[in-house]
Amino acid sequence: MTAVPVFDYGEQYRSIATEIGDAMTQVLTSGQLVLGPQVARFEKSFASYLGEGVSCAGVNSGTDALVVLLMAMGIGPGHEVITVSNTAVPTVSAIRLAGATPVFCDVDPRTALMDLGQLEQHITPSTRAVIAVHLFGNMVDIPALRRLLGDRSIRIIEDCAQSHGARLNGQMAGTLGDASAFSFYPTKNLGAYGDGGLCASHDEKLIAECKKVRMYGFEQTYCSVREGLNSRLDELQAAVLNVKLPHLADWVKRRREIATWYDESLPGQLQRMVPNQGVDHAYHLYVVRSSQRDRLRAALSSMGVGTGIHYPHPIHRMPGYEWMGMGEGSLPVTEMLAREVLSLPMYPELGRERAQLVIDAVNRAVSELS
Ligand SMILES: *Cc1c(COP(=O)(O)O)cnc(C)c1O
Repeated sequence: MTAVPVFDYGEQYRSIATEIGDAMTQVLTSGQLVLGPQVARFEKSFASYLGEGVSCAGVNSGTDALVVLLMAMGIGPGHEVITVSNTAVPTVSAIRLAGATPVFCDVDPRTALMDLGQLEQHITPSTRAVIAVHLFGNMVDIPALRRLLGDRSIRIIEDCAQSHGARLNGQMAGTLGDASAFSFYPTKNLGAYGDGGLCASHDEKLIAECKKVRMYGFEQTYCSVREGLNSRLDELQAAVLNVKLPHLADWVKRRREIATWYDESLPGQLQRMVPNQGVDHAYHLYVVRSSQRDRLRAALSSMGVGTGIHYPHPIHRMPGYEWMGMGEGSLPVTEMLAREVLSLPMYPELGRERAQLVIDAVNRAVSELS
């Protein structure tokens, strides 16, 4: 029996069920199901959540937010995009869908984020963008990345699928690069009840271009001014997001509280991922490291504590990416993390009691294993 699942949205849904039901009924009776007033409202609200001067375009998923941004920037065949192998597969699928070539930089073992010290060696004349993945809710130091890139015309795209609500020196994740991509997949810090995503940028023109790309390249109906695809955010999901967005700050705060309890009470010998300098971590995931990860995971499972592994296979070692020709040992830190990382239960409604069950179970499991 799982007493504490790694993620559960049920309690949160019950707390807002009436509002969600009303919002959905309003959409269904409005006669507008796709790219209507709910989407427009959400784009505006999310932009002001991010900060002044930000524009947003709602799309169908986080993957598509990256694809649409790359297409809108004119990045495609013949171009290279540097990112990490230690991410969710969609970061890389998006680069491929846009027709560009992914290039992997290894990560820092303390943060699991791109190791900026190794970036330079991956830059070539074909490099057009870096997708910086703010993994787990931590953040890549974007100003440092910008300094490294200097005056080369290489765009910085922030993959914010796991970092809604994170800040670096007070600035929101998603406002530091040239553009950013958000996902509203149900498990994310802000989750819809289905798929959803969003492109954000201070560059209004770029977002206007994204709005063409997301609908066949249309500016006005039935005439493509450029090539595009179909990646629209629908009204039902936007209505859900409009109900949920006002709660996001509180939900992120609760994630931080849980992380603090874990930080204080988990066994000292268990290695933690550390927030980067100046980062208010958004704790999409709370990740620890152990050389006995699989035994620890089995012990926790037998005590009713669910865990996750983000991620068990580095992308460059997956069968689907064999064509990249990157053997074992090509990204040593990424490969080590895949063997050692473990994600503990983390969601805003977890609460003190269940967090304590997790803490007690981890302490017991770790002392039994050592
Ligand atoms: C979830 C996720 C995505 C993709 O989002 P979808 O909405 O599932 O397409 C991209 N990058 C990262 C790091 C993610 O965690």
